[in-house]
Amino acid sequence: MKIQDLEMPDQQGYFGEYGGQLIPPQLKSVMDEINATYDQICKSPAFQDELTDLYTHYVGRPSPIFHARRLSARQGGARIYLKREDLNHTGAHKINHCLGEVLLAKHMGKTKVLAETGAGQHGVALATAAALLGIECEIHMGEIDIAKEHPNVTKMKLLGAKVVPVSRGTRTLKDAVDSAFEEYMKDPVHFFYAIGSVVGPHPFPKMVRDFQTVVGREARAQFLEREKKLPDAVVACVGGGSNAIGIFTEFLPDERVKLFGVEPAGRGLDTPDHAATLTLGTKGAIHGFVCYTLQDADGNPLPVYSIASGLDYPGVGPQHCYLKDLGRVQYVAIDDEECLDAFMVLSRIEGIIPALESAHAVAYAMKLAKQMSPEQSILVNLSGRGDKDADFVATRLKLNATT
Ligand SMILES: *Cc1c(COP(=O)(O)O)cnc(C)c1O
Repeated sequence: MKIQDLEMPDQQGYFGEYGGQLIPPQLKSVMDEINATYDQICKSPAFQDELTDLYTHYVGRPSPIFHARRLSARQGGARIYLKREDLNHTGAHKINHCLGEVLLAKHMGKTKVLAETGAGQHGVALATAAALLGIECEIHMGEIDIAKEHPNVTKMKLLGAKVVPVSRGTRTLKDAVDSAFEEYMKDPVHFFYAIGSVVGPHPFPKMVRDFQTVVGREARAQFLEREKKLPDAVVACVGGGSNAIGIFTEFLPDERVKLFGVEPAGRGLDTPDHAATLTLGTKGAIHGFVCYTLQDADGNPLPVYSIASGLDYPGVGPQHCYLKDLGRVQYVAIDDEECLDAFMVLSRIEGIIPALESAHAVAYAMKLAKQMSPEQSILVNLSGRGDKDADFVATRLKLNATT
């Protein structure tokens, strides 16, 4: 990769032709201020020390890398390593960027952080960071999602967040985004809209990426120490793309290391029920930025689906779009059945219950390992743990049946 490719985005927030800032004019000065403050404090030792201290003593970083020996032996090819983001406090990688965003919001003197949530994972991570750092937190969530994801709603309330039920339209994530955005527009100077992935208008794709790069920095050093060389491939699942860019960034200059982003093929790429944005999408605008999107002829986002609710987003981070066009990262897709198989295999032979999102990455690594030799190795970002999915999977696979 060329040096300038590694210093993305440009001043306007573009990664090639993707990204940017498609926002109402009255938000321009607010976004510019967030960007300027971020650029300043991300270089300040005081801010970095505070964040590092929280990563170490609160999140439990560094998370280990684990050689999945039995899984590797079963597949009969490359050695598979897991970066254990599932061991973080709150059980996934999202806490990495939520802490960064809430620290920034506090630093800027904001009075409230707010966000939408679908399955509730982003809501819980943000409510956690807000409780820790002592700032008001408001989460907008569709009524259907509230009914489906009750444990996460309870957690957000226990953590002191205000959960706003959204009863309009689809009563799911799509309308929760609109509802949260309306609340934000009431006072964008004092409120901070904490975006949950490497998506949204500039500077969010850049900031969220930077907060997640700790994953790749740790993993690269840990891997070099253990194996005395770099992995041959790095694999991560892609919803909006934060855990993937977090582990990829540190390996981007190492052209020999193949990078794979795994999208959800849902019930099949030949059905409407998937969320394979980079695999099947076209360039469009969504939620304040330009990216590959799954859209209808009028440019409206299509309904998307995945067994892993954290992956069903009709857009994707702009840097991933750029890396796809560049050919530096290969984007592939794994369907629900392959995901469930990987979920069970990892549970049964490594004693690790993965999040359904992360199981997409494991499933692709299982395929890839077979095509590689035992001298080669694959590093998988295990983005989260599967406690939240355990009952759903057990019911779906009829493990709870008494007969
Ligand atoms: C939310 C989530 C994802 C998807 O988000 P990205 O921004 O694509 O990383 C993946 N894994 C887990 C465990 C999640 O909670």
